[in-house]
Amino acid sequence: MNIILMGLPGAGKGTQASEIVKKFPIPHISTGDMFRKAIKEETDLGKEAKSYMDRGELVPDEVTVGIVKERISEDDAKKGFLLDGFPRTIDQAEALNDIMKQLDRDIDAVINIEVPEEELMNRLTGRRICPKCGTTYHLVFNPPKEDGVCDLDGEKLYQREDDNPETVANRLNVNVKQSKPILSFYDEKGLLKNIDGSKDINKVTEDVISILDDLK
Ligand code: ADP
Ligand code: ADP
Repeated sequence: MNIILMGLPGAGKGTQASEIVKKFPIPHISTGDMFRKAIKEETDLGKEAKSYMDRGELVPDEVTVGIVKERISEDDAKKGFLLDGFPRTIDQAEALNDIMKQLDRDIDAVINIEVPEEELMNRLTGRRICPKCGTTYHLVFNPPKEDGVCDLDGEKLYQREDDNPETVANRLNVNVKQSKPILSFYDEKGLLKNIDGSKDINKVTEDVISILDDLK
């Protein structure tokens, strides 16, 4: 199963991805997570990505396409993958098409999580993450049992540097502009499945899982 999870920043891609991989044994491949890991490890990739991410701009296509190509060619992705945060430009979508052709594989579905833009600022500025296990919480919509602490391992939660109102506003601008042609691209191929991401997290998960069950 080769799946793409689309949605504007804050739509709930990461939240849903962690539920999907509990049920379907495919790796969750998030370009944002890959860049954040590279930044933490202070690799050349991390140094390059950081300046773009800090401003809420997209990392250049040639860099992003390169890391995705490498990642989906790895052994654990041979049985399928769940792409989150890629493609984010039409050039990335075209490049992914070429990569899939070279690997003699197909994208099976593109799940687009739709949330009204005005809700996204609240979602992103209230997002808190566990540095150890990556679980994502929200101050209001999905709070941990104990304030500021991960339910699973007791680590102190942190806020992503780019989840400040100014950078969020720019990320939303950039992504709204870029996402429309990508959605049309997949719609024309008959792959696009839109789901209502404004429902409760559990309800959205049910809708996503039911689409994936139908693909099997
Ligand atoms: P993305 O990966 O698309 O940027 P996340 O999964 O990180 O989005 O979710 C962004 C924030 O919104 C998080 O704080 C998360 O807990 C919260 N969130 C996710 N889905 C929902 C939902 N259906 N309703 C309310 N809040 C949600
Ligand atoms: P969100 O979905 O919450 O915006 P991500 O973790 O997916 O966050 O992305 C964080 C940042 O990483 C983006 O603002 C961008 O700078 C960079 N990034 C992630 N995916 C891509 C991509 N496919 N192309 C270019 N830049 C990307």
